[in-house]
Amino acid sequence: MRRLSAATAFRPADPAGRGGLASQQQKILRVREFDHFVVIDFEATCERDARIYPQEIIEFPAVLVDATTGALLSSFRTYVKPRHHPRLTAFCTELTGIQQDQVDGGVDLATALAMHDAWLSVAGAAKNRLAVVTWGDWDCKTMLESECNFKNLEKPRYFDQWVNLRIPFEAAFGAGRRNLQEAVREAGLQWDGRLHCGLDDARNTARLLAELMRRGVSISITGSLPQPPPPLPEPEPELELQFQPQCAYQR
Ligand code: AMP
Ligand code: MG
Repeated sequence: MRRLSAATAFRPADPAGRGGLASQQQKILRVREFDHFVVIDFEATCERDARIYPQEIIEFPAVLVDATTGALLSSFRTYVKPRHHPRLTAFCTELTGIQQDQVDGGVDLATALAMHDAWLSVAGAAKNRLAVVTWGDWDCKTMLESECNFKNLEKPRYFDQWVNLRIPFEAAFGAGRRNLQEAVREAGLQWDGRLHCGLDDARNTARLLAELMRRGVSISITGSLPQPPPPLPEPEPELELQFQPQCAYQR
């Protein structure tokens, strides 16, 4: 996994708020890599104790966060209609709260990606100054990547790297197995909404992100997709071989 420079990530100079000239100067000199974070939490088709193949996204939520202040600025959600297993299992509805009529009225994934991108533009988020934040690596590394691959869809480049919030969380609170709800509570926040509702999960992840920022925890890219191999070099123009036999057979 590739880690980008932490030096350019959000890192308050003076988390304890002690001030002082040196820390003020540090604040002025620091160059931030991101203006916004966009917190994503996909929900997908699922079955109890079994794998659904291919798994498809059914809820596409996002929360935009100011990378300087931690303020939650805007939210987005669309339901997505699964093509391969269009009927949700009872287990899936029970887990996520997503109803059959919500996915029946949903858009396809290509449209969801385009709507999300347009929402970012309207919200004023510059795509090259944006980092995707998720709880875990599954959303960008596994789910979106595999579905875009098997549906042959292009996705915006900002989904190709992300901040797995577990990593800065563990830097602050120590390693351990905990789900998002447990992490939110461990950070001293109240869980708000329904666990496994994508938008509620994304909102709570965004609140946890803001809390980590407030505590001065460094937030930087933790994972990325493998870079595609560089294009093959152009083939050399074929040399015309002018072959002259050097030693003819002599009687
Ligand atoms: P989450 O973000 O934790 O709500 O989960 C994302 C997706 O992972 C869900 O929409 C399901 O597709 C799958 N998932 C989560 N928990 C389970 C579970 N206990 N059993 C089966 N699939 C699950
Ligand atoms: Mg979720």
